Amino acid sequence: MSFAALPLASKVTVLRGLGPARAAALQEAGIDTLRDLLWSLPYRYVDRGSLRPLGSLELRGFESDPGIVTVLGTIQDLRQSTTRVQHMALTELLLTDGTGSLRLIWFNQPYLGRSLKMGDKLLAFGTLSLGRHGLEMRGPQFEILDRQGETGWVKRFLPLYRRLGPLSGAVRQKLVQEGLGRVHIAEDWLPLELSRDLPDTLAALRLLHDPPDDSEALSLDEGDTPAHRRLASEELFAFCLGVALRRAGRMQRKGLRVPTSPVLREKLKSFLPFHLTGAQRRSFQEIVADLTSGRVMNRLLQGDVGSGKTLVALLSLAMVAETGGQGALLVPTEVLARQHAASFRRYLGEEAEGLQLLLGGMKAAEKRAALARIASGEARYVVGTHALFQEAVAFHHLQLVVVDEQHRFGVKQREALKEKGGDPHWLVMSATPIPRSLALAVFGDLDQSVLDELPPGRQPITTRLHKPEAAERAWEQVRRELAEGRQAFVVSPSIDPSDEGKVQLRDIQAMEALLRAIFPDVGLEVVHGRLKPDEMAVRMARFVSGEVGILLATTVIEVGVDVPNATVMVVDHAERFGLSQLHQLRGRVGRGSVRSHFHMISGSETERLQTLVETQDGFRIAQRDLELRGPGEFFGVRQAGLPKFQVADLVRDRSLLLRCREAADRALALGLSEGQTEWLKREQVRLRLAEIS
Ligand code: ADP
Ligand code: MG
Repeated sequence: MSFAALPLASKVTVLRGLGPARAAALQEAGIDTLRDLLWSLPYRYVDRGSLRPLGSLELRGFESDPGIVTVLGTIQDLRQSTTRVQHMALTELLLTDGTGSLRLIWFNQPYLGRSLKMGDKLLAFGTLSLGRHGLEMRGPQFEILDRQGETGWVKRFLPLYRRLGPLSGAVRQKLVQEGLGRVHIAEDWLPLELSRDLPDTLAALRLLHDPPDDSEALSLDEGDTPAHRRLASEELFAFCLGVALRRAGRMQRKGLRVPTSPVLREKLKSFLPFHLTGAQRRSFQEIVADLTSGRVMNRLLQGDVGSGKTLVALLSLAMVAETGGQGALLVPTEVLARQHAASFRRYLGEEAEGLQLLLGGMKAAEKRAALARIASGEARYVVGTHALFQEAVAFHHLQLVVVDEQHRFGVKQREALKEKGGDPHWLVMSATPIPRSLALAVFGDLDQSVLDELPPGRQPITTRLHKPEAAERAWEQVRRELAEGRQAFVVSPSIDPSDEGKVQLRDIQAMEALLRAIFPDVGLEVVHGRLKPDEMAVRMARFVSGEVGILLATTVIEVGVDVPNATVMVVDHAERFGLSQLHQLRGRVGRGSVRSHFHMISGSETERLQTLVETQDGFRIAQRDLELRGPGEFFGVRQAGLPKFQVADLVRDRSLLLRCREAADRALALGLSEGQTEWLKREQVRLRLAEIS
């Protein structure tokens, strides 16, 4: 029997043994074509050499590898019961392999009894412990190999695939094997500079789905083989090519050319209360070059907390506002909008009359007046929140949009604003430093300016980590600062600002009671995401003015809030925050000229939190945060917008990404073939590139 070779783009339904239920399960998982199927790699490889004969197991003796133990055996003596004391469902079985036996137990997973059968070959991964009947493995992960004791496992490595609904891992493996046998891959889309030391695509797929016995077990599991690099390179190259194309398209769009003159330069200078740092000067020059180029600017301004992004934003907005255009600054919260408006007013002096605040919480009449001023062009500096693009805002002549803390805005909202103002220049400011590889992936088409220098005279912030039982040290610091006439932030966690409505405010209420007990004579305000904007503004104002000494808050104060007299911050349950988030919080103190203090209280994750004690370099902290939590968490789930790579990993493959980017620029300069263009189109859909900014 012979089959015609199948192209990668074939539907998976061409494979034998794929009935409607199984096909639907694949579809559900986004596996539609042979390509999708083959690029869904095993989640783990079991090395036969790592199997422990059951007779050789002992609690000690694996000094080199005390962690997870892998065993293979036949199920005997399977039973379900209920524990006597706590009435938990108990599933237990005896695994035997001819050399000995091991007891496996699970608590509270009664459904296991239905999937496990006597006589099944079971592969189990877990840690050993000593129970009443000797050695046992509690709650191990497992895979059922073939029924009736056959394993079908003849080679050194066994690739394991995740079950997809009714589709078991073993069936997936068979489908993949059939796919590999029938697929035909004609072209190599990678340029030679990337593919030089790599196996070709089909060879790479074979190596990863059916690893030869001489493969390196560790590299396989870590995704660090030439075969992985081949597949990752294809994804990353397609991604970079897509970004480069989009950028090329933008370069061809006519942008509004903002005029400049000596008079304008003098005017801008008059807004500056201090000398720009070298980094601010350089970044602003890059922005000026864009604004005067006649092309549309799309730039990311990155900088550590306190590096002075606001001032650079103001100068950029002033470029357009003082030459007859309108500029808008978008921020995530009303607190921030008010604060930015206030600091802009200070900088702008007389020109401040051209500034207009636009907030979702405005009274109807007030909002009408604001909208009229924006529509007439009288408002040249517009500062606002999401209201800016959620409502019917018409600009007279919008030339520049500055988005603060961009990753909190979705791509769609951004497009909506774009539609209102034709094709304005874009400046995106990130709240936290973003590692370069990730910035590339998320803001691929943005040019970057980096503020890698803090304004002079900044004192390092003393950072300490306390166990809960030593929290008194933190409160002592607060007491000392208050005695000096300074103010304090106390932060309690909330899972996610957007969830705050659902989450109980227990932590913050308990903390409020505690603070009132420790500091009975000190004024205290509490702010959290459940407050109405008006109420929030009133409470914040009482802290900003110095009327109260302590502000107890959830992460609503994370972004931007500027109170130079606040010299100490205490974060409770610090383990519930990401490192970058903590660094961002820390940036709320140390804004004045006196030494500030940052105290974290946490009973766990000491090692991770120690990073903050060790360094104040936001880029280093961000990189560590990214490595520990991965890109999705780094940005928070809501900001998804990351390309959907199947094999490439933005942390592991970061240097590969940079190489692919350079290669993509060169490939584009040479011009793409028709075949390449088609391939790219398919990949763009697969990676969901349209959703990236
Ligand atoms: P961020 O980058 O975190 O948004 P900000 O723009 O809020 O930083 O600036 C932090 C503080 O530094 C502000 O109080 C601001 O007035 C001050 N600042 C900004 N630029 C300079 C400068 N060139 N020299 C001195 N202080 C500056
Ligand atoms: Mg800021």
